Amino acid sequence: MPPSAASARESSLALVKGRTPLFWLNERWKADPAKLPAIDAEVEAAASRLLRNKGVLAALFPELAATQGEIESPLLCANRLQHTVHADAAQDGHWFLKADHALPVAGSVKARGGFHEVLAFAEALAAEHGIEGANVVRLISPEARALLARYTVTVGSTGNLGLAIGLISAALGFKAVVHMSTDAKEWKKARLRARGVEVVEHTGDYATAVEAGRQAAESDPYSYFVDDEASHLLFAGYAVAAQELVGQLAEAGRTVDAEHPLFVYLPCGVGGAPGGICYGLRTLLGEHVHCFFVEPVASPCVLVQLASGGAEPLSVYDVGLDNRTEADGLAVGQASLLVCERIADRVSGVITVSDEQLYAALLLMKHAQGIDLEPSACAGVMGPLSLLRTAAGRDYVVRRGLQDKLHNATHVIWTTGGSLVPPAEHERFESIARRMCGPDAALNDFFPPRSNHATPALRNFQ
Ligand SMILES: *Cc1c(COP(=O)(O)O)cnc(C)c1O
Repeated sequence: MPPSAASARESSLALVKGRTPLFWLNERWKADPAKLPAIDAEVEAAASRLLRNKGVLAALFPELAATQGEIESPLLCANRLQHTVHADAAQDGHWFLKADHALPVAGSVKARGGFHEVLAFAEALAAEHGIEGANVVRLISPEARALLARYTVTVGSTGNLGLAIGLISAALGFKAVVHMSTDAKEWKKARLRARGVEVVEHTGDYATAVEAGRQAAESDPYSYFVDDEASHLLFAGYAVAAQELVGQLAEAGRTVDAEHPLFVYLPCGVGGAPGGICYGLRTLLGEHVHCFFVEPVASPCVLVQLASGGAEPLSVYDVGLDNRTEADGLAVGQASLLVCERIADRVSGVITVSDEQLYAALLLMKHAQGIDLEPSACAGVMGPLSLLRTAAGRDYVVRRGLQDKLHNATHVIWTTGGSLVPPAEHERFESIARRMCGPDAALNDFFPPRSNHATPALRNFQ
């Protein structure tokens, strides 16, 4: 490595290690990424699977009766948020919230991937044992329940994936075991136990919980392990969300094409949910959709993995970070290598945010939009201003030749969790937010336009 490259690497690493909120542009982004037909087929299969199991979900969960079993969330107008942060539609485009915090049953984006994977396993078992008929009859028949009850579905999680997998598994009649990391919140454990799910608590981080689940499942032929770090079925389930969003944008009269760019901001943990959604959107909308992942400054695992440029795992611990953040759903030290490989030429970049910014965003969403989110789910709120008001963001816009098109743009902030959080916990979030941000916090102080320091652009490490 020449000395100049070595020092650029050192300064990039120092920025990451210093917990500075960053804007990293993905140099490997391609307008026309390599086609991956096998994965496209998996995503199509996932869409059909969710469709044919609507009746099953509606029968299992009364809260899904209204939507006939569809796992969908609304696309909400965010103009009050936009107004509060002084972003004006004539200049900054139209902002929306993709409200996965309100996804039925599981209350987070994890319902998409998680329900899909457990339904796929149930279908496979029914087929293998010759249980015939349409799913709505065969998967909830006494015969199927007796069969599924012989199997255990196991998962390791910081909380929300455990909630989604545990709830659907128990409802279908499986035994369910959820290995939880220290980050996991008590109410999530209590909710699972109340539905008959076994919760195993670990003192380690997310990776420890996943590994414990993997080990426990490996030794038991009647055990099925949902592998958040490397699951094709989770990824495909998340990717189906792209079709839903594209339909909703059309209904809202928002065009997406060369003159009308779409920007999407996705809170990111291990990478599965944002990765799947990004993959699906790039497949449907090509170069006209720009997906940014948003990670906590202490846990930027996808940034670290992608910026390393290599296929060898590199964790946030390897670069000197501690993976300690209030955003429990995003507290992941090592990104999924499977996901990083699939999105390496599709994702536009990664934005990192401090816990203070997350809590400022939480207050903002509560007061401007009347929506209660969990801290992890607020990560995307910082996205549009990071793009529109920082030097690194503007650099991205110029590189893609979009500077004259921003007034036509649509920005979608994906809000990924929070509707199941108990009221007392929301009150706790709010009091932490007030303490962190100051009692009379001028929320704009936490957003790029009013802060004088430009968010630094980050170079790759290699
Ligand atoms: C899990 C989670 C994410 C991110 O999903 P990953 O697949 O871990 O990247 C985002 N927001 C919330 C609320 C989550 O629970």
